[in-house]
Amino acid sequence: MEEIKKKIEELKKEKNAIIVAHNYARPEVQNIADFTGDSLELSRKASETNAEMILFCGVHFMAETASIISPEAKVLLPDLNAGCSLAESITAEDLVNWKRQHPNAVVISYINTTAEVKAESDHCCTSSNAVKVVEAIPKDKEILFLPDKFLGAYVQEMTGRKIHIWKGSCHVHEKITETDFEDMKRENPDAVFLIHPESSCTQNCVKKATQHNDDSIRFFSTSGMINYVNNSNENKFVVATEVGILHRLKKDNPGKMFIPIKENAVCEYMKLTTLEKIYYALLYEQYEVKVKKNIADRARKAIENMISIG
Ligand code: SF4
Repeated sequence: MEEIKKKIEELKKEKNAIIVAHNYARPEVQNIADFTGDSLELSRKASETNAEMILFCGVHFMAETASIISPEAKVLLPDLNAGCSLAESITAEDLVNWKRQHPNAVVISYINTTAEVKAESDHCCTSSNAVKVVEAIPKDKEILFLPDKFLGAYVQEMTGRKIHIWKGSCHVHEKITETDFEDMKRENPDAVFLIHPESSCTQNCVKKATQHNDDSIRFFSTSGMINYVNNSNENKFVVATEVGILHRLKKDNPGKMFIPIKENAVCEYMKLTTLEKIYYALLYEQYEVKVKKNIADRARKAIENMISIG
């Protein structure tokens, strides 16, 4: 392990590359990364450096987002099989057909979408700013929200807006159910519950949190969870998202206790990136992810529209 880490460091310098890793990546991959974070955060961080090469330890749509934001850089994904069930739940063609049925609607796409889908969208959003983006759309406008049905329902609940929601989902977060939440809540009445709004238990949790005024149930993106825990005086957390995030939470907060709401909430796509594949990716400069200019320009506009809202 030490030998391969050394070789990666050498290649990184030689090629003027940076390595960014998503919060769900394998622990050893997170440990060698220059930055860890959520997908948009990583693409933005990467764009702020003068690196010629961005090695993205995440999944394909994330590497595309990095390529959209940093068109000059060479973006590498160590394994092209690293896909995303959520991003795959809607194609650009699906979206074009949906837009035809609602010609005056504003399209808001979650960042977990392909570049082609972003290019057909008016705004992007992340799980941390989705509510804000929807609130920024004039009240008389119809909204198409995609692709995640649980995040969409959460946004609808929080904004009180009636929106059209695509019926997509992430196969990992879909498995985090109301029953998981109820069981863990019973077993851990003293814990703070950190819920990612892609989880299928979200609506039930929102109901619980609001009806019982229960502020031990909180909703966050992955980076939101990390920020909250790092600044919190509480010591025990039940975490409802992909289990990879526990590595960073524990590393940043060695004195606190973290319990995954579901041990097998594991994204196999995120675990495809290994140290060995990172080494070969740097050595052979593989596999480049490049978004065509006409798609990238339109997709970038949707990302910029989101950033201008905040
Ligand atoms: S956890 Fe879900 S949303 Fe995230 S990359 Fe894996 S499949 Fe996609």
